[in-house]
Amino acid sequence: MNFPFESLKACLPELEAEASENDRDGSFPVAGLALIRSFGALSAALPKSLDGCGFGTDPGGATALMQLLRLTGEASLPLGRLLEGHINAIRLVARYGTPSQLRQLATHIRDGALCGIWVTETTNPVHILRNGTTLTLEGEKAFASGALHVTHPLITAETPDGETRMLIVPVDKNRKAAASIGGLCGMRGSGTGRFDFTGIGISPEAIIGAPGDYLRQPEFSAGAWRGMAVALGGIDRLVTLLRAQLIARGRDTNPYQRARIGEALIARETAALWTCKAALVSDDDVIPPADIAGTVNLARMAVERAGLDVIELTQRGLGLAAFIRTNVVERIMRDLATYLRQPAPDETLAEAAATFIRRDLPQP
Ligand SMILES: Cc1cc2nc3c(=O)[nH]c(=O)nc-3n(C[C@H](O)[C@H](O)[C@H](O)COP(=O)(O)OP(=O)(O)OC[C@H]3O[C@@H](n4cnc5c(N)ncnc54)[C@H](O)[C@@H]3O)c2cc1C
Repeated sequence: MNFPFESLKACLPELEAEASENDRDGSFPVAGLALIRSFGALSAALPKSLDGCGFGTDPGGATALMQLLRLTGEASLPLGRLLEGHINAIRLVARYGTPSQLRQLATHIRDGALCGIWVTETTNPVHILRNGTTLTLEGEKAFASGALHVTHPLITAETPDGETRMLIVPVDKNRKAAASIGGLCGMRGSGTGRFDFTGIGISPEAIIGAPGDYLRQPEFSAGAWRGMAVALGGIDRLVTLLRAQLIARGRDTNPYQRARIGEALIARETAALWTCKAALVSDDDVIPPADIAGTVNLARMAVERAGLDVIELTQRGLGLAAFIRTNVVERIMRDLATYLRQPAPDETLAEAAATFIRRDLPQP
């Protein structure tokens, strides 16, 4: 299957309009998701052998996957986050699951399934309880994107033996979930909330991979490159809007504003180069796992810095106009600032620095 990138590009304004609409009351991007599904975005990460595009699952698919996630993030960071979570789950099943589990997931996706990856714990973490041959879940996940809409979340849960396992848990409409986390100021249209798994029964076939696979490197760190690609799309959009709004107000020839435009373009390109490097390194089986993880971790920090710089340049360049709710820039800055809050940034930088104290980064 060839992915119709031009069709997706043509729909970016429509997807952006839905993201702005949904921001008001925190609604889910139902129409946007249906639209990108109709282009094949939800099956694009499946291997070609299962009628996908092989983006991120077949060798050489990383560049096209980066383009898909970047374009989706440019249109809507909440929609990009949902697509990225869906693809992350497919990738983990492809890497650690059995061929039969991947085939089954592909069938569900063709039938309309939406996957997600819900691993963030609350004070009531998810456990697997065993009663004879029956397995039941107990506990909750927080920051679960698409809490009311995902049908096949991949979650982590602890076994009675204290091992962490990955599971795909099919969930129906009858669920104990909330689509918000007490007034999150950005990414309001991603339906990010809480999900209570208590009482849900699972079959042994729901378990993906072996104990410890979820934290296994390089996949554990490398997967972050896909989130960066979505954030990069948001950075792209802000840089475009900064330039367009300066031109519209006749402020683009001012030398100070030109300097800001130049700095924003540099930051955007830095984010793009690092994301591309992270994607290529992650797709290279010859590079040692520690070097892949270290490179992606450095890339994560570089993209975060670039995003924060572009937000500041936009605020200083457009002034108060960037803080007015009717200006789409205001919503995108909130979404991007929220999206850039990824887990443990200090540890990520320190670990990457430790990896490359005595050797250089790999060159894919
Ligand atoms: C819109 C959105 C959607 C999301 N969707 C999902 C989802 O679908 N599934 C999912 O599982 N998660 C999801 N998440 C959660 C996300 O993956 C991260 O867990 C979350 O964003 C981490 O944010 P944090 O800033 O609180 O991280 P933290 O790791 O708590 O970092 C905050 C600060 O504390 C520091 N720090 C971290 N640990 C320590 C420590 N032990 N001691 C001292 N300092 C420390 C960090 O370096 C950083 O400076 C989502 C988040 C957002 C915003």
